[in-house]
Amino acid sequence: MNIKERLNRIKASLPAGVELVAVSKFHPVESLQEAYDAGQRIFGESRPQEMASKAAVLPKDIVWTMIGHLQTNKVKMIAPFVSLIASVDSERLVEEIEKQAAKYDRVIDILLEVHIADEETKSGWSEQELNDYLASGKLATMSHIRVRGVMTIATNTDDESIIRRDFKHISEIFTSLKPRFDASFDTLSIGMSDDYPIAIEYGSNMVRIGTAIFGTRNY
Ligand SMILES: *Cc1c(COP(=O)(O)O)cnc(C)c1O
Repeated sequence: MNIKERLNRIKASLPAGVELVAVSKFHPVESLQEAYDAGQRIFGESRPQEMASKAAVLPKDIVWTMIGHLQTNKVKMIAPFVSLIASVDSERLVEEIEKQAAKYDRVIDILLEVHIADEETKSGWSEQELNDYLASGKLATMSHIRVRGVMTIATNTDDESIIRRDFKHISEIFTSLKPRFDASFDTLSIGMSDDYPIAIEYGSNMVRIGTAIFGTRNY
């Protein structure tokens, strides 16, 4: 199967209301163009420099989504055009996004990345840290940021019960945080190539799929 066929097959399998982020990191612009020509508009990248150079040459109606850990000093590279930063994992990053978005007179959508997985190496707020930060009230003062919801990456394991445990956990956090925000807090982003059907069972409405569309990555 080519990119278009894989994309169409995945799209056909997603229930209405589940958004597909095509994770194109490490793939050449030709592959993104192929997905674009097949109708895909939302693309996910993990490195700011790579996103910026792809955005410069690809069609302007692409909805760029940052999914990888973002260093504060690199926010400025993507601030003029990025639509959603799905990997917001610290107060410093929130503040830098607010500052850069203000500079371009934009509002940037964000997802709060929560650390649920067993691996210590994964990024994201712990539940406690996030609750403390929200309680500080600082996020509510940021007028150039719109908090759309939460994102997590499940534990990397073949044990489906652990993946289900993680998805159940984040889905409970999503539900518990909702009353703190307005109606634009509507996005639960879980699910990647190997686990997105399970994520949908737990209420995911934004899956992030790379390998199953574009094939394996050459890092
Ligand atoms: C790379 C990546 C994905 C896509 O992973 P696949 O297994 O290739 O579908 C999704 N989310 C995040 C945060 C990623 O870094």
